[in-house]
Amino acid sequence: TEQPDCQSPTLAVIGTVSSCYPDKFGIPRQPSLAPSATATLQLHPPFDHPDAVRGLEQFSHLWLTFLFHHSPERWTPLVRPPRLGGNTRIGVFASRSTHRPNRLGLSLVELAGVDTDDGVRLHLRAHDLVDGTPVVDIKPYLPWADRADQASGGFAADPPDLLPVSFTRDAEQQLDRHPEADRLAPLIREVMAQDPRPAYRRGDRDDHRYGARLHDVDVRFRVTHDEAGSRVIVEAVV
Ligand code: SAM
Repeated sequence: TEQPDCQSPTLAVIGTVSSCYPDKFGIPRQPSLAPSATATLQLHPPFDHPDAVRGLEQFSHLWLTFLFHHSPERWTPLVRPPRLGGNTRIGVFASRSTHRPNRLGLSLVELAGVDTDDGVRLHLRAHDLVDGTPVVDIKPYLPWADRADQASGGFAADPPDLLPVSFTRDAEQQLDRHPEADRLAPLIREVMAQDPRPAYRRGDRDDHRYGARLHDVDVRFRVTHDEAGSRVIVEAVV
């Protein structure tokens, strides 16, 4: 019998993600940080058979194994996690860096629905995947097996701090006019509260204007600093 090539395995892409995040910029560092993020995972033939997902609808959460297809193939043993300010180095295997051998990502996402009317489409929420991400495996999350109550979280023990977010009048009006304002508003708040700026900008005086695309809008923002701390000001939703 033919043995699989386990020295240099090839992976089949089983599906592709259509995401509320058109670009990498702005995507939170882990899926649970933006519960309002939505995506659809469309399975490809021959994996798009309804039998392949029979029973999956019983689960609330899934593990997705995917390719960091927007990351370079080169990797280095040390990386600089944004969590440590972007200057301190740590081993690539002690990190969730996107610059890693094999470029495999692992995300725990919410399963919002399974649609098998025409091929297979999985509706996802609370994810951290850029549009077009190739997925190589899906597994249901088993709370009794996959949750470790006594776990220690190393240098990323707690969720990142959130910044307060406010909208200018213009931005508020632009958002209100959007046909999907109710869906968009919580996502903008969740993403902006993470402070999407590059790690090295944080703590600085920073007069830059930034833009992050979410769904079909460009969210323009800046971050102000005063004695009370930093705050994200959304200046336009266009
Ligand atoms: N939860 C996954 C993990 O732990 O393997 C991903 C963590 S990684 C720190 C999260 C970042 O990956 C996001 O902020 C986004 O910028 C980036 N990202 C998402 N999809 C990607 C893709 N297909 N290629 C490269 N980078 C991606």
